[in-house]
Amino acid sequence: MLRQVAEGVLVHESEFLESNAVVVHGGSGALLIDAGITGSEMTAIADGLRRLAQPVAAGFSTHPHWDHLLWHPRLGAAPRYGTARCAQSVREQQSDPDWQAREAEELPPEIADDVPLDLLGRIAGLPAATTQVPWDGLRVRILEHQAHAPGHAALLIEERGVLVAGDMLSDVLIPMLDLNAADPIEDYLAALQLLDGIAGDVEVLVPGHGSMGGADAVRARIDQDRAYVQALRDGDVVTDARIGPSAKPGWEWVADVHEGQLQGLAQRS
Ligand SMILES: [Zn+2]
Repeated sequence: MLRQVAEGVLVHESEFLESNAVVVHGGSGALLIDAGITGSEMTAIADGLRRLAQPVAAGFSTHPHWDHLLWHPRLGAAPRYGTARCAQSVREQQSDPDWQAREAEELPPEIADDVPLDLLGRIAGLPAATTQVPWDGLRVRILEHQAHAPGHAALLIEERGVLVAGDMLSDVLIPMLDLNAADPIEDYLAALQLLDGIAGDVEVLVPGHGSMGGADAVRARIDQDRAYVQALRDGDVVTDARIGPSAKPGWEWVADVHEGQLQGLAQRS
C-alpha cells in the first residue's frame, strides 16, 4: 500500500526489514526510489501507480546493496539512476559471471523465492557533478557521501522537505560502516555532518529501513549515530538503544552487526 507522507510523496513499506520504497509524483510519471524487495510488493506498487495514472518515469537506487537495487518488469523500462560510484560498484559486483547465483544464496530464505534478481542493478551512473535527479518532477537534490556504501546518496525532495536517507538515520539499524573504505569512521562522521547541514530543511525523514520521523527525529538520529561512531572511534563502551535488550523486537541481530564491526575495525588497526 502506498501511503502519502507529503504532497505528491508516497511510501511503501516492505515486510522485509521495514524497507521503505518512495514514490514522487512528477509531470509525466513518478520517480521510484529503492523500488522494493519482493516481486509481489513491486507488483503492488506498479498497480498502485497505474491507478494513480503515474507510470514510472525514472528510478533511483540510493546505494549498491541488493535490497536497494531491485526492479520488476511491471514497473516498466524507465531509466534507473544511481551515483557514478554506485553504478561502478554494481559493475564490479556483476563482473563475476556467477553474481546472480551468489546474490541468490545471500537472500533471506523466507523471501528468497519471491525476490526477482533479473533486473537487479541495471542503473545508469550519473556524472559525479550531478546535483539533481534528472527528471521532470519536483527538484530532488542528490547528497552523495561515502559512509554505508560506495556512492551512497540521500535524496532531498526540496519543495516538500522530505529526506530519503537510504541506509542512514535509521531508528532500528546502527550505523553500518563500509569496512572496505580507507577510513570508514571519518567517512561516516563526514556523512553525518553533510546531513546535519540540511537537517533544518527536513520535515519528513524516510530511512531505507525503519520508522519515518519528523524534523526532531533527523536531529536526534544524527546525534545518536554520531555518538555510536565516535564511541567506535574512541574505543569507548557503546551504549545504543538499538543494540542489547532495548533493541526493537525482531531486531536483536543488530547486536551481531555491532560485534562484527568491532572485530572488523580491530583487524584493520
Ligand atoms: Zn538496506
